[in-house]
Amino acid sequence: MKAFVITAPNTFEVQDVAPPIAGPGDVLIDIARVGICGTDMEYFHGSMPYLASGHAKFPLRIGHEWCGTVIETGSGVDKSLLGKRVTGDVMMGCGKCKRCLDARQHTCEDRYEVGIRNGFNGALAEQFVIPARFLHLLPDSIEDSIGALVEPGANSWRVMDAARAAKGKRILIWGTGTIGLLTAQFAMAEGAIVHMIGREEATIKLALDIGVASAGQDLEVFEGGYDAIIDATFDPTVPPKMVDLVEPGGRLVFIGIDSNPALIDSRQLVLKDVTAVGILSGSPGLAPSIEYISSGRVDPRPIIGATIGISEVGNVMSGTRPTNAGAGPKILVNPKQ
Ligand SMILES: [Zn+2]
Ligand SMILES: [Zn+2]
Repeated sequence: MKAFVITAPNTFEVQDVAPPIAGPGDVLIDIARVGICGTDMEYFHGSMPYLASGHAKFPLRIGHEWCGTVIETGSGVDKSLLGKRVTGDVMMGCGKCKRCLDARQHTCEDRYEVGIRNGFNGALAEQFVIPARFLHLLPDSIEDSIGALVEPGANSWRVMDAARAAKGKRILIWGTGTIGLLTAQFAMAEGAIVHMIGREEATIKLALDIGVASAGQDLEVFEGGYDAIIDATFDPTVPPKMVDLVEPGGRLVFIGIDSNPALIDSRQLVLKDVTAVGILSGSPGLAPSIEYISSGRVDPRPIIGATIGISEVGNVMSGTRPTNAGAGPKILVNPKQ
């Protein structure tokens, strides 16, 4: 089968590899779609911090936002999963340590991350194997074309939840990429008033198209200020501005990350009685993400810019925009194409 492999920074191959086999507890998935995300780009360019910390090394098989169909079950796995359309968690804890038993397996020290950490092969291939216990079933209302958006949706749901988005709350989202835009959709589904700051005209316009109250390259100032501010950028200058801007008693949510530290003054958190939250993964948000998307409360279709074949991935990751791409920042791959 075909698999996309990053062999060194900015170097890739579509390789013919042996199809994986479902071991005990595993399922074999026939992949329908895989999303390319910022983490994948960091691996492609060699800047991902796990490369320096030893949690990952080349060659690497990426792909952690995916959907597909179970086509084989390993021993000990419920056979009724065969033929089911699924997506899965990225974070795969050991299941035994204190963090895993405490419902935060996504922070397990010994965790694998699909296509990201400790050499676990990703889903950017025709087929892929994952332990069955990390699967989430997809209802028919979440078709293949949007199933790979459930995982970034799960991160965005958690960001929205941490921001306490609710009717009448004014929320500022910094960054008009996939996570920023999806978070805007989840927050609007809760009745929040959402404002966005972005860099690219196309995604700023897309933000307005999906219904945010304002979007632009510059900050808008409002009487009453922002109840919550979210960093969905790769810009270390954003977090200190957030602390300055947020309303006293408000909330700051951080999901963007840069290779340089972003420094904030903790005295301001105290003096403004501000709550600051970091979000590492979508794990606890997968079930709600499926619920919001399947009910139509969140429609991620506008976020998709293009769907490409596996042979085009390397060029697109090198910076070539797919032909006929729309404004959406998310590029999906159909490995059969
Ligand atoms: Zn991702
Ligand atoms: Zn663990």
